[in-house]
Amino acid sequence: MNTNEHVAVVGGGVIGLCCAFYLKRAGYRVTLIDRGEANTENCSIGNAGLVVPSHIVPLAAPGMMMAGLKWMRDPESPFYVKPRPSLELAKWGYQFFRAGTKAHVERSAPLLKDLNMASRTAFEELDAEIGNFDFEQRGLLMLFQTEAGLEEESHVVEASNKLGMPAHILNAQEARERDPGMKMDILGAAFYPQDCHMSPGKFIQGLQKSLERDGATLRWNSEVCDWKRDGKRIRAAVVQKPNGGREEIEADQWVLCGGSWSPQTVRALHLALPMQAGKGYSVTLPQPTHLPTIPSLLMEARVAVTPMGGSLRLAGTMEIAGLNTDINPRRVGGILKAVPRYYPDFSASDFEGVKAWAGLRPCTPDGLPYVGRTEKFQNLCIATGHAMMGLSLAPITGKLIAETMSGQEPQLSSTLLNPDRYA
Ligand SMILES: Cc1cc2nc3c(=O)[nH]c(=O)nc-3n(C[C@H](O)[C@H](O)[C@H](O)COP(=O)(O)OP(=O)(O)OC[C@H]3O[C@@H](n4cnc5c(N)ncnc54)[C@H](O)[C@@H]3O)c2cc1C
Repeated sequence: MNTNEHVAVVGGGVIGLCCAFYLKRAGYRVTLIDRGEANTENCSIGNAGLVVPSHIVPLAAPGMMMAGLKWMRDPESPFYVKPRPSLELAKWGYQFFRAGTKAHVERSAPLLKDLNMASRTAFEELDAEIGNFDFEQRGLLMLFQTEAGLEEESHVVEASNKLGMPAHILNAQEARERDPGMKMDILGAAFYPQDCHMSPGKFIQGLQKSLERDGATLRWNSEVCDWKRDGKRIRAAVVQKPNGGREEIEADQWVLCGGSWSPQTVRALHLALPMQAGKGYSVTLPQPTHLPTIPSLLMEARVAVTPMGGSLRLAGTMEIAGLNTDINPRRVGGILKAVPRYYPDFSASDFEGVKAWAGLRPCTPDGLPYVGRTEKFQNLCIATGHAMMGLSLAPITGKLIAETMSGQEPQLSSTLLNPDRYA
């Protein structure tokens, strides 16, 4: 136990909360610092709520760059890069292009599977301990309307099975039998029985309550705007309050979990953490006219459909458009239009008046997160860049950071996660 050591976690999204949770469990005195009002301005609340062992292919994969370029002219497309004069974007684009190789996918797949499966086990433990976040283990249906899409996914299914993770290709009838209450207009599906889902807002509330109960200090409305260093050690963070006042918070150890804002948060520390924000939208129907029992991905449209308790969340799009959460109604419209195409029981009137939410996924150029210690400082760990898997990978990330900080051999370690890999 390290009861005397004080760890400050910067960022109170799902990654920061899970790091704080497992650090507290490891016996540290923990302070969590976030610039927002108790979890209002981050990516972790409105996401699709999926735990995804099925996602063994990182965002940087062959064909993604071409798909992005192809979709750029469609205002309702699910993937979009907004052209803007930015050296950081140009560098990130080049690194993304370089990373998207078959060899990278093959290297990453076993790691992503192991991380997601370890996280899944941790979610089971957290469900028993914290509970009340609508955690369900019903698998995930990936629905296809095209032969080409189904054929492509069959290779991922094969790769999953080779990695020891069950996955099946279903014909349209078999898919409908999995969720008999829902009409589906599809050619076929892939079914990943290990995937799970939950209500992410309830999950993070549960973590916050548990941290407060265990004596962690949660500092909201506190933006880290500068750092105080002693050589290769970080002594304090300079925190700006909404009233303009500044304060120094000291700690023995630091964890950076600032999501898409991580690079700007550590700019003064000169760390190389290339990152772009991947904006996505969701809408939540509190009383949907129809409620699937199994979550699905509408694959050609890249839309997630997740039952959360009695509500239904529809989520999608990946818009590389800078650090803003402005809502583009055309792209939200693209999500809503896709749903009746796959689930014909829904119609446009089911979505009238719904309010859209936007969140920024922290996307690294190679699609893998930065998790571990940086060589640049003796007392700084990084845990960010989880892109479209941040909820899914949050518990294992928290465990890995707690193990690393307390000097244990992390249960899963890989140079692929090294936060210094672009330094
Ligand atoms: C539409 C959509 C659907 C998604 N669906 C899924 C899904 O089904 N499954 C899944 O696993 N993932 C999903 N994701 C991705 C997931 O939501 C993100 O990967 C995850 O929320 C990232 O968590 P985070 O804690 O790293 O970042 P965030 O949640 O963004 O948190 C970062 C925090 O850092 C704080 N911060 C930043 N800078 C500072 C500073 N200088 N000082 C103090 N605080 C600071 C911010 O206020 C914020 O609270 C989805 C994302 C979107 C947009």
